[in-house]
Amino acid sequence: MAIYHLKGGRVIDPASRRDEKADLWLVDGKVATKDPGRKADKVLNCKGKLVTPGLIDMHVHLREPGREDRETIATGTRAAAAGGVTSVCAVPNTDPIIDTQTGVKFILSRALSDAVVNVYPYAALTRGQRGEELAELGDLLQAGAVAFTDDGHPIMNNRVMRQGLDYARTFGALILDHCEDLNLAEGGVIREGELATRLGLPGWPAAAETIQVARDAALAESTGGRIHICHVSTRESVRMIREAKSRGVKISGEATPHHLALTVDACATYSTNAKMSPPLGTEEDRQALIAGLLDGTIDVIATDHAPHTTIEKDWMFIEAPNGIIGMETSFAVLNTALVKTGLVPIGLLIEKMTIAPARLLDLHKGTLTDGADADVAVFDPEMTWTVDPDKFQSKARNCPWAGQELTGRPVATFVGGRIAYELGKPVG
Ligand SMILES: [Zn+2]
Repeated sequence: MAIYHLKGGRVIDPASRRDEKADLWLVDGKVATKDPGRKADKVLNCKGKLVTPGLIDMHVHLREPGREDRETIATGTRAAAAGGVTSVCAVPNTDPIIDTQTGVKFILSRALSDAVVNVYPYAALTRGQRGEELAELGDLLQAGAVAFTDDGHPIMNNRVMRQGLDYARTFGALILDHCEDLNLAEGGVIREGELATRLGLPGWPAAAETIQVARDAALAESTGGRIHICHVSTRESVRMIREAKSRGVKISGEATPHHLALTVDACATYSTNAKMSPPLGTEEDRQALIAGLLDGTIDVIATDHAPHTTIEKDWMFIEAPNGIIGMETSFAVLNTALVKTGLVPIGLLIEKMTIAPARLLDLHKGTLTDGADADVAVFDPEMTWTVDPDKFQSKARNCPWAGQELTGRPVATFVGGRIAYELGKPVG
């Protein structure tokens, strides 16, 4: 395996509280912080660049099996590599739903043959994600599932969620919840409020999320189970997670780049690339999410990368499917919206996208200490570029930043010491 010498970059490794100009070597698939005494096959000039652990995106829809017209493990992981992401966690709401050992093993074997980054499968918490009876959690963990979620099909039955938390606790496993009261949210396509009224679109009330966050906090507290709140979008949810954490509840929070960078105003032109679930919130919600990042209430940033075909998205706002792709723009969007504006320090941003998800999921990734897996990203934090979805590695084009200028871009991505992406070159 080639030896890489990453020379003179700013090495940011939040796990070891390291942020300094230094060299780094990738040798036999591992990180070396000191000169290994062997001649490097390739020297990469990293002057002015950030050298960080490869990003870990714990919320990704790869769509395979079943919707390979939207994305595949091959294309989704190439999109990841192009975004500086070296590990993705694949959500199980595929067709068929991943709720058996066979399903988990399918994802792992397909990843082995097709993926260019690490793929960690989630399994459904309930059979068929029907929210009625629990899946065989022990078997699923044994097959390689790293956590459980019915994302895409929120669990409405509180008794089932309680049983899930109780059962998962015996394995120390995490449950990820898409918090949405389906009765309250029914028919809603945009956050309820003045803009929804003005546009004549049915509103999705903030309480549809916060009620389920309150439910989850209560059940995590009474069972001792571990709950992770996906894509938090309301300031009330942030407040509840903060309050539950202060009482020692095993609850964690996730925010997406779109909820951190955009508000409901992005829907003003009826652009279906601003339609997601949960919907974009107000500026107060966005500020609360940023405050949550800063004080530790929001543990991780994940994209909820949700590819759809252009035909599906090119439809009336009210009919179009929810979600946007995110892995090829996540660093640039957050660098532009949060770091360049002075709202969030770069080290904290990298922490939320590397070691924080690794710790939640016990992945043994996300650091650049000596001997760590050589999953590394190199970013140019000053490079400006115009987002052109036609150049994306993803099969999908549903990106709200198309045509916009962003600052910051991945220039190289290494997975296990091998180069997976280099700006301007074919991926993989
Ligand atoms: Zn979701």
